[in-house]
Amino acid sequence: MSIKSIVILTGAGISAESGIQTFRASDGLWENHRIEEVATPEGFAANPALVHKFYNARRQSLTRVTPNPAHIALATLETAMQNRGDDFLLVTQNVDDLHERGGSRALLHMHGDLKSSKCLGCDWVGPQTGDTSIDTRCTRCDSRATIRPDIVWFGEMPYFMDKIERALQSCDLFVSIGTSGAVYPAAGFVQTAKAYGAKTLELNLEPSAGSLHFDETRLGPAGTLVPAWVDAILKP
Ligand code: NAD
Ligand code: ZN
Repeated sequence: MSIKSIVILTGAGISAESGIQTFRASDGLWENHRIEEVATPEGFAANPALVHKFYNARRQSLTRVTPNPAHIALATLETAMQNRGDDFLLVTQNVDDLHERGGSRALLHMHGDLKSSKCLGCDWVGPQTGDTSIDTRCTRCDSRATIRPDIVWFGEMPYFMDKIERALQSCDLFVSIGTSGAVYPAAGFVQTAKAYGAKTLELNLEPSAGSLHFDETRLGPAGTLVPAWVDAILKP
């Protein structure tokens, strides 16, 4: 394997075969809700009870799904690359926990995590396993109604951008898996990686909005494409 440094970006498409609905596929609705209602700070301010209920349902649904062969293949690739002393970084836009349950460790949740909450009052961030509501008290500042899902909503700044930019600038290969290329800044990662000399590959069910920027696009379900691609690059 001649590749010494890989950055992978995943989106909702990698979890589709595990049974988690994607986003734009259903006309801008997320699990039958308008994005403005459940994925913006304004939506939370307007109806916090609805937003808590929505993310409680998403969090609860994680117990009914399992990682698919695409998640597992990426964990296998991470282990193999790290054993060789090479660099591997997985950046996900997903808020589910299927990458970590598939065995990934070098993982950044750039859009947050269903299993985390934060406090608008004191900036506390911590693990969240059960449900939240407008009555949930912050364990640090004891305020009520300040706890919100630790999800990066539209109009908010994604997490880990400095670290991701540095990795994009130094990788040999950038791979985008199961993302529509509609949500920035993630949609621009391919151009950054390319500008700094990386090869770029897209694995998706259909060409994404940014398909033209990739050196190569392979179309098909992630559960088939990703394990085949990982097998090929791990071949001696
Ligand atoms: P998206 O829903 O906008 O796009 C999904 C992409 O995956 C599409 O291009 C589609 O063609 C492709 N796809 C669908 N099934 C596939 C399969 N079996 N194999 C390969 N590709 C497949 O998703 P996005 O680009 O990640 O943007 C959506 C935003 O919504 C993200 O920011 C994310 O935080 C949030 N979201 C997350 C989840 C999750 O955590 N699983 C689910 C829905 C939405
Ligand atoms: Zn607090």
